[in-house]
Amino acid sequence: LPEQEAFDIEYWLLEEAKLQRMPKARAMAGKIAFITGGAGGIGMASARRLMQDGACVMICDIDREVLETSRQELAKTYGADNVGTVWADVTKEDAIIAAFRETAAAFGGLDVCVCNAGIASAAPLEDTSLALWQKNIDILSTGYFLTSREAFRLMKDQAIGGSIIMVASKNALVASPGAAAYCTAKASELHLSRCVALEGAPLGIRSNVVNPDAVLRGSRIWKGEWGDQRAASYQKSSLEELDEVYRQRSLLKRSVYPEDIAEGIAFFASEISAKSTGNIINIDAGNANAFTR
Ligand code: NAD
Repeated sequence: LPEQEAFDIEYWLLEEAKLQRMPKARAMAGKIAFITGGAGGIGMASARRLMQDGACVMICDIDREVLETSRQELAKTYGADNVGTVWADVTKEDAIIAAFRETAAAFGGLDVCVCNAGIASAAPLEDTSLALWQKNIDILSTGYFLTSREAFRLMKDQAIGGSIIMVASKNALVASPGAAAYCTAKASELHLSRCVALEGAPLGIRSNVVNPDAVLRGSRIWKGEWGDQRAASYQKSSLEELDEVYRQRSLLKRSVYPEDIAEGIAFFASEISAKSTGNIINIDAGNANAFTR
């Protein structure tokens, strides 16, 4: 095994062993979490992580087929009663309202909402059509607004607070070539989260952001035009080679995996972060601050 892979596997085994040894201290026991894009790479890693800690999870996605295989996978490990699926397009108000209604009916409430459903699109500014711009705004900006608003309403009605987490991106902080629409839409999520935090604080509703850098493994976003364009811009012919470029340019010289992002989500989901709201964690191996392009 490559040195880093061996290190990562050892690390995760240790973490898993720690969790096994302390079932009573499980931070999320009895909590209910809703995850958009829940059938994707980061969504599934987050569902697994929260369920390891004892949560029930409703995974919401637009892809019916992957939604069902994801449900089966989670049910096998964590029990069929602890996972639910709901189809919704996050850009459709009615669908999102119905998805939260279904979650409350199935599990009896909501404690955590992870706004995560997303896409990536590659086009230089001059080639960015209005339709492409609008698609990014619809899914990443409006989708996160509708999701967090419905979570907020439900949490307010329950009057027991809650935690909303937005999976934004390193590109919400720094511009990335050929991705003006994506970067702009992602940046809006940071400010939406601050606004949610401000209005939620008196109600015990927290809102925080996790900013991943490139997570190539397990993510479907990279398997397509975005990944091809990014690889070509570094004269690389595969995602493995591109991942190595990102690893080398990071401060820590490490790749970022969906499980790393899930750790940030688990932190903001649990009471361990009870005194944190309106904040951001970058999980980027130091890439956002490396200044090495
Ligand atoms: P992914 O493609 O594996 O998962 C995204 C999921 O969102 C998919 O299951 C997809 O079906 C779903 N989705 C897309 N449009 C939807 C819609 N309109 N309604 C409902 N669901 C929809 O990608 P991922 O890497 O797991 O990405 C998750 C989030 O992380 C995204 O918001 C992405 O922008 C962000 N992010 C990812 C990376 C990365 O490198 N993978 C880096 C920074 C930020």
